[in-house]
Amino acid sequence: MCIGVLVWAILVLTLLPALGASVAALFPTLLGALCAGGVVGPGVQAALRAGRSRRLPVAAGAGPGRRRVVILGGGFGGVSAAKRFEQLLPWTPWLDVTLVSQRNYLLFTPMLAEVAAGSVEAGNVGVPLRAACPRTRFRRAEVLGVDPDRKVVHLRRGDALETLPYDHLVLALGAVPNFRNLPGVATSALTLATLEDARRLRDHVLGRLEQADHEPDPAERRRWLTFVVAGGGFAGTEAVASLFDLVHSVLRYFPHVRASEPRFILVHSRDRILPELGDRLAGYASGKLVGRGIELRLGVTVAGADADGVELSDGERVAARTLVWAAGTRPSPVPVVGPEGGRRADPGQGAVPVERTLRVRGRRDIWAVGDCARVPDLARPGTTCPPTAQHAVRQGRAVADNVVAALTGAAPEPFRFHGLGFLVPLGRQSAAAELRGMRFSGLPAWLLWRGIYLWKLPGPQKRLRVLLDWTIELLFPRDIALTTSERHQAPQAVE
Ligand SMILES: Cc1cc2nc3c(=O)[nH]c(=O)nc-3n(C[C@H](O)[C@H](O)[C@H](O)COP(=O)(O)OP(=O)(O)OC[C@H]3O[C@@H](n4cnc5c(N)ncnc54)[C@H](O)[C@@H]3O)c2cc1C
Repeated sequence: MCIGVLVWAILVLTLLPALGASVAALFPTLLGALCAGGVVGPGVQAALRAGRSRRLPVAAGAGPGRRRVVILGGGFGGVSAAKRFEQLLPWTPWLDVTLVSQRNYLLFTPMLAEVAAGSVEAGNVGVPLRAACPRTRFRRAEVLGVDPDRKVVHLRRGDALETLPYDHLVLALGAVPNFRNLPGVATSALTLATLEDARRLRDHVLGRLEQADHEPDPAERRRWLTFVVAGGGFAGTEAVASLFDLVHSVLRYFPHVRASEPRFILVHSRDRILPELGDRLAGYASGKLVGRGIELRLGVTVAGADADGVELSDGERVAARTLVWAAGTRPSPVPVVGPEGGRRADPGQGAVPVERTLRVRGRRDIWAVGDCARVPDLARPGTTCPPTAQHAVRQGRAVADNVVAALTGAAPEPFRFHGLGFLVPLGRQSAAAELRGMRFSGLPAWLLWRGIYLWKLPGPQKRLRVLLDWTIELLFPRDIALTTSERHQAPQAVE
């Protein structure tokens, strides 16, 4: 039906009136458009589903008897694996799939910066796992470790410790911020990896404006109003642009803060930001940011931080009370534990190395996908797949196929995926995009960004809510109510 409304809004409500038709006379066509959309939508979805199920990994013959598959991590990789297992259920009724995750929702990370900027409500970028994978058993718990000898996972649910047996295990635990042991960074930096981070960052920035608004000392004002972002990749660039938009859109409420006072600094180790984009687009993005007054510190890194400032690797100290860390992640640790639950080995910093089929090297029954896995990139031989949602989603689907293949005696297939491209929003209705070799910038790229990610957001309910948030943002100023605790809480530290 959303398709119908969209078609009606574009064709009937926009184009036809432009050609002279009366809007009131066109209203009955809404009913027709709704019916047409209601029929076309499910039809298209059914066709897509049928297409996906055509390549079945199930070998001929009977199933292997009841088999337990446990997926650890309810992010992009884990959820897409669970959904694919659900699609295969008619052919694999003997499968018992359990998804374990700390959060009970899939976090749509591409819109996290929009939450931090106050343009999208936090709840609208989290999709409940029980709704996304209705035929999968869900267990909300923290994974403490894996005992591959006993084939069990150790979990903590509230205060209770428990074990969960498996026949096949899929690791999809994602990544956590990596502060590289830099002094003071873990305790003073904010991150943008979870919904709590995004809420906290928004409130932190608004709190800084509240402080600056009645601060008479110019040096102190400068400290409150300087915002440093570490890391000029996609996440950092998007973060600095979003914070700039947030601050400038709410300045009307802070009469003693002049528009020229807030200072934004993006620190990046290389000689240009957005290394994944071609020179021209990265240059366009830099130009956009610099044109707004955002300072780029290139060829330097953050060397340390405390409550009053940020140290750079060239010796400069920036007086600031905000540091956002977007300069590195590391795969979530997956401790291997012994029979009594004691830690026996910890792969530590590295991602889990997997074979081309996504099977963990040296294990028949453990597989890994997404940011916690080191997956050979067959599209770019000699490299590994980048940590992106688009890769995690495809790996999730492929691993489900391969687990079923392994269980039915068929051969697991190598994972191969050519990335679709990159999109990075730059604030103020501009973006840079490189999709299948085509480049876009400015408003068209921004519309593309919004359109694509709105479409990719799982579930029509969340899509509508985000669309509503964006519409409200066009009509009203952003909200400045502080909704989290004032006290600065350090992010989950991984030094
Ligand atoms: C701000 C931001 C913006 C991004 N934008 C884009 C983008 O535009 N396009 C793109 O392709 N990629 C983007 N990414 C990257 C993308 O989010 C990741 O590559 C993707 O989420 C990886 O999927 P995953 O399944 O491996 O991990 P995740 O999606 O991170 O999921 C991991 C899951 O495991 C759970 N978990 C972790 N440890 C435990 C434990 N011990 N016990 C229980 N559960 C646990 C977590 O709670 C989480 O649910 C962005 C990332 C960030 C942070």
